[in-house]
Amino acid sequence: MAKEIAILGSTGSIGRQTLAVVAAHPEQFRVVALAAYNNAEVLAAQVRQFKPKLAVLLNPERAGDLAARIAPLSTQVMTGEKGLLAIARLPEVKLVVAAMVGIRSLAAIFAALDAGKDIALANKEAMVVAGELLMERARKRGRQIIPVDSEHSAIFQCLRQGGRVEKVIITASGGPLRNMTPAQMAAVTPQQALNHPTWSMGPKISIDSATLMNKGLEVIEAKHLFALDYDQIEVLIHPQSVVHSLVRYSDGALFAQLGPADMRIPIQYALSWPERWDLDSQVLDLAALGHLDFDYPDLERFPCLALAWRAGRAGGTYPAALNAADEVAVQYFLQGKLPLTAISRIVAEVLEEHQPGKVHNLEQILAVDAWARQRAAAIAEHI
Ligand code: MG
Repeated sequence: MAKEIAILGSTGSIGRQTLAVVAAHPEQFRVVALAAYNNAEVLAAQVRQFKPKLAVLLNPERAGDLAARIAPLSTQVMTGEKGLLAIARLPEVKLVVAAMVGIRSLAAIFAALDAGKDIALANKEAMVVAGELLMERARKRGRQIIPVDSEHSAIFQCLRQGGRVEKVIITASGGPLRNMTPAQMAAVTPQQALNHPTWSMGPKISIDSATLMNKGLEVIEAKHLFALDYDQIEVLIHPQSVVHSLVRYSDGALFAQLGPADMRIPIQYALSWPERWDLDSQVLDLAALGHLDFDYPDLERFPCLALAWRAGRAGGTYPAALNAADEVAVQYFLQGKLPLTAISRIVAEVLEEHQPGKVHNLEQILAVDAWARQRAAAIAEHI
């Protein structure tokens, strides 16, 4: 029987690859709803191909454009957060793929769990800012949050051995700045920083990968997803991006998941789990690779990773402040207004100023997010 799915963020990198997986298994899925932030043109093409019941464009100014493009199809068009919430509550949807950047879809993810849906989570920011609340909600409702992030998918796959987990080792390619001196890093352009050596991704996550903030967010994501202590998590630089992450058990046995850098693999596994299906991915030639390298991350050249660890360990609302400050700082860098090295400065200052609290609800997270954005922008304007 076809699994009914909805995709929040269908026009982004993960969303498009999710639809590629769906298109390769037409008998296995029915796309009930699609949502995007701004891209009416791509969303309209997806609506024509997959014929969902509901399509949501978050930006209300573009919703009319979407409706005009998809006429005369019967797909209903909605806009804004109420559109996302409507998707989350569609009775026939079984699985919601959460792939929107940032925390725009956070309320919809909570609503989907409350409405009894499983979540395939590509949106790591949601887990970073609201990890405890999300995991508690999923537990209460008996729902699954299945990771899509390649590292977390690898860990998820390696955690099926039984026994006591001693360490989860998250690998990082090191990004395009891995071998740069501090002076070179200070002069790097958005174009250079966007040019990731092994993965092709959206702009925000590409810059986060260049600063290793992405890895820091992934540490916090892993802590919540797999109920780990921070002492159980380690990060290793692995430039080939072949080993996607590892789990070490208390007897010393180490399990890793390896594969080509193809996001369709973790996306498809999140959709097919607990089954594993065929995929026409490239075959990894280990002999041609010859060697796999590992190294410790340099926290002095990559202070964002250290900041994320610190915010994660401090807990409460610190990760929400970290995430918001980073998003604003990354935008300043992408617009050419600040050097890459300013990102960690802005984030550090916002964390320094933050008056933390225990996370009780979504409203509080959104308030911290708004505060941190405003502070990060004010700091950025004065650098
Ligand atoms: Mg990742």
